[in-house]
Amino acid sequence: MREDQFTQAAFYAHLAEHRLMASACTNCGKKFLPPRPLCTACYGEEMEWVELEGVGELQAFTVVHIAPTAMLEAGYGRDNPYCSGIVKLENGLSISAQILDVDVTRPESIVIGTPVQVEFIERGEGETVKTLLGFRPAT
Ligand SMILES: [Zn+2]
Repeated sequence: MREDQFTQAAFYAHLAEHRLMASACTNCGKKFLPPRPLCTACYGEEMEWVELEGVGELQAFTVVHIAPTAMLEAGYGRDNPYCSGIVKLENGLSISAQILDVDVTRPESIVIGTPVQVEFIERGEGETVKTLLGFRPAT
């Protein structure tokens, strides 16, 4: 994995190392998550990786009963719904991720603004193991 490629693949490679990384423009300092190779603020092309603390707050969420294939394979679906949310991070960044440790049978118990912390989710086995981004209420 080349460190100078600001791709989705590189983002996931960092997740596999349990690091939440954004790209930051070396010209104007704007950060992007998921990382982008070009700065939309100043059109700069020089980016660098910055590691985020992985703490934020729940900005929006939905409880998903009709799961996409990857989540069906992970055991989610109509009888085992999961929570998908948008987490607002430092510097105005936000990202969508699975929200763990919330009561999806009682969506009214899930509160916007709840402080959350990053959780790295390992799915699959052996060669096919993939690390996904999740968050859980901060302890
Ligand atoms: Zn820039």
